[in-house]
Amino acid sequence: MQKTALVCGAGGFIGGHLVKRLKREGFWVRGVDLKFNEYAETEADDFVIGDLRDQLIVRDVVDRRFDEVYQLAADMGGVGYIFTGENDADIMHNSATINLNVLDACHKRNIKRVFYSSSACMYPEHNQLDPDNPNCAEDSAYPANPDSEYGWEKLFSERLYLAYNRNYGMQNRVARYHNIFGPEGTWQGGKEKAPAAMCRKVAMAPEGGKIEVWGDGLQTRSFLYVDECVEGTIRLLRSDFEGPVNIGSEEMITINGLAKMVIDISNKTMEIENIPGPLGVRGRNSDNRLIKQKLGWSPSQSLREGMEQTFAWIQGEIQRQHNHRSDAAE
Ligand code: NAD
Repeated sequence: MQKTALVCGAGGFIGGHLVKRLKREGFWVRGVDLKFNEYAETEADDFVIGDLRDQLIVRDVVDRRFDEVYQLAADMGGVGYIFTGENDADIMHNSATINLNVLDACHKRNIKRVFYSSSACMYPEHNQLDPDNPNCAEDSAYPANPDSEYGWEKLFSERLYLAYNRNYGMQNRVARYHNIFGPEGTWQGGKEKAPAAMCRKVAMAPEGGKIEVWGDGLQTRSFLYVDECVEGTIRLLRSDFEGPVNIGSEEMITINGLAKMVIDISNKTMEIENIPGPLGVRGRNSDNRLIKQKLGWSPSQSLREGMEQTFAWIQGEIQRQHNHRSDAAE
């Protein structure tokens, strides 16, 4: 019989890629989101536009015993959205409500396994002050001290999924994603993250111009290409290990280093100007020891390869927008 999957947050960046992958594997897929994906037509067999904060909608969506459920829906964005403090109440309320609703509806349908996407933002701030030696080993999570309410909600929800495992015999799986990037992700408007923002700035700046980078640019991060994120997600859901486990890259780079990489990819000469802006922690890198040990797999693609693909896609999007405006003006 054809296998079935439910992807919550299917109109989003990672959810959109996950739907494509599940379709390639032959699944019947239902997606649900507040919106369709802005960049690519969905490949889901059924796509429900609905608000997962609404219990009645969630009950309708979870109307069968799906073989696989992926819960990726969340109110989220890049540093400009998460760290200003202005969106804290929405971020916590919206995402927690979604998780409470989806998990409980799955439990009531006797669905055993739900994948939940937590985030590296739940790691304690004090372990991420040294840009050269951030500690993001899974067992460093406690005593907890995330640097954002977004991180606190993730921590709460991780615990929620694992509590259902203990108390209701579910087999939920929890991953902590570290900065996922790639084509068909938000690249403008304020919710975009560093790799996409950098590609946009470089692609739009003239030869010999300059781009602005938030902070002193010495803060470090690692970035994982979306295809590898999807691979890790599927492997974890189908494995015997409940997590939480990091799904991220161990290739750490400074933000200025990332900007230079994109400038190099663009073949332009350009200056970097470091300006004040929202930052997040000083250093963050994935620690892949546990995923290697438990799944016998970890991401291996180079950052450069993924950035080349992302830059080409964003350049194409800018061109498309430009052509559209010119057509409208005529
Ligand atoms: P995204 O914002 O592109 O996707 C999330 C989707 O959830 C959006 O399409 C949004 O419309 C949907 N959504 C929000 N509220 C909803 C609601 N009430 N009802 C229905 N749908 C709703 O984000 P993404 O980058 O694809 O991330 C997917 C998941 O992975 C999120 O849970 C995110 O917190 C987590 N994560 C992502 C990253 C990353 O770097 N992208 C890093 C760590 C964790």
